[in-house]
Amino acid sequence: MASVVSLSASGAAWSQAPAAKSVAAVPQAAAAPTPAAAPAPAAVPSPAAAAATPKAPCANPNALGIARVVEIDTTGGPGFGFEHFKQLDFLRDHEVVLTFDDGPWLINTPSVLKTLAEECTTGIFFPIGKHATYYPEILKQVAAAGHTIGSHTWSHATLTDKKLTEDQRKDEIEKGFSAVKWALGGTSPSPFFRFPALQHPPEMVTYLGTRNIAMFSCDLDSFDFKARNAQQVIDVTMKKLDKLGKGIILLHDFHKHTAEALPDLLHRLKAGGYKVVKMIAKAPVETLPQYDDEVLKDAKLPTVSSRPVSAVVQTISE
Ligand SMILES: [Zn+2]
Repeated sequence: MASVVSLSASGAAWSQAPAAKSVAAVPQAAAAPTPAAAPAPAAVPSPAAAAATPKAPCANPNALGIARVVEIDTTGGPGFGFEHFKQLDFLRDHEVVLTFDDGPWLINTPSVLKTLAEECTTGIFFPIGKHATYYPEILKQVAAAGHTIGSHTWSHATLTDKKLTEDQRKDEIEKGFSAVKWALGGTSPSPFFRFPALQHPPEMVTYLGTRNIAMFSCDLDSFDFKARNAQQVIDVTMKKLDKLGKGIILLHDFHKHTAEALPDLLHRLKAGGYKVVKMIAKAPVETLPQYDDEVLKDAKLPTVSSRPVSAVVQTISE
């Protein structure tokens, strides 16, 4: 609490209280990396502010870390990732952006968070709206760790599917963002969006432009969802990365092999001289009220039974 007050009131304190001069030195010292200062940012109820605040000191001297933080102005819906969008070549040689799709999910997402924390590094998470409503507490952990969060539709529908009307495509996008916002306790995520299966219907690309939402394809796809084991995730990713020299890497925190591969993958990145870039948005997404209401309505459906699933559903043959 004290550190929050000192941050917001330091200007006034300096000019008013004579004693404040000595106090003023305290925030300076407190800003230096001390383990005791670490819990303070978690108490601040604003992930957006937390994202901009320097994180707790890194306990791992060999950590991959974060080399650079870039802020994205999403006005007009810029596209990233050379597999589909070739205008914005902002990464320097050997710079990478880690991205994680399809979470939040039990076990695998917490495992990914643990690995990222051990390496004092970060990524962009593109959660599925429905999954966010299943596991809001896990998504809150992603935010609390200071990672960037965007959205990946409501139900992971492929938006090029001819059976979907234009309104249904918009619903998928908008309800996805509203669901993530709901799961984060009302804090809007970044206006960062990834199309399921990297299928980009042109009219939705245009629509996202009008909504000032940035689109993320990737520079290299780890194909982790097809991998038979963790080693394959590492091999495919490093082979492609060594060829390209840099890039936005597509991974899935939803998948077991990815979670298992991540510790070694991050070691390989470090050993290869790669550096992680953190991408943050200049402003959060502005969700549409009717979709916020819809998610709220879904979440408030009266539940008659509060028994756990294991008490209700029993596998009797398999
Ligand atoms: Zn996906």
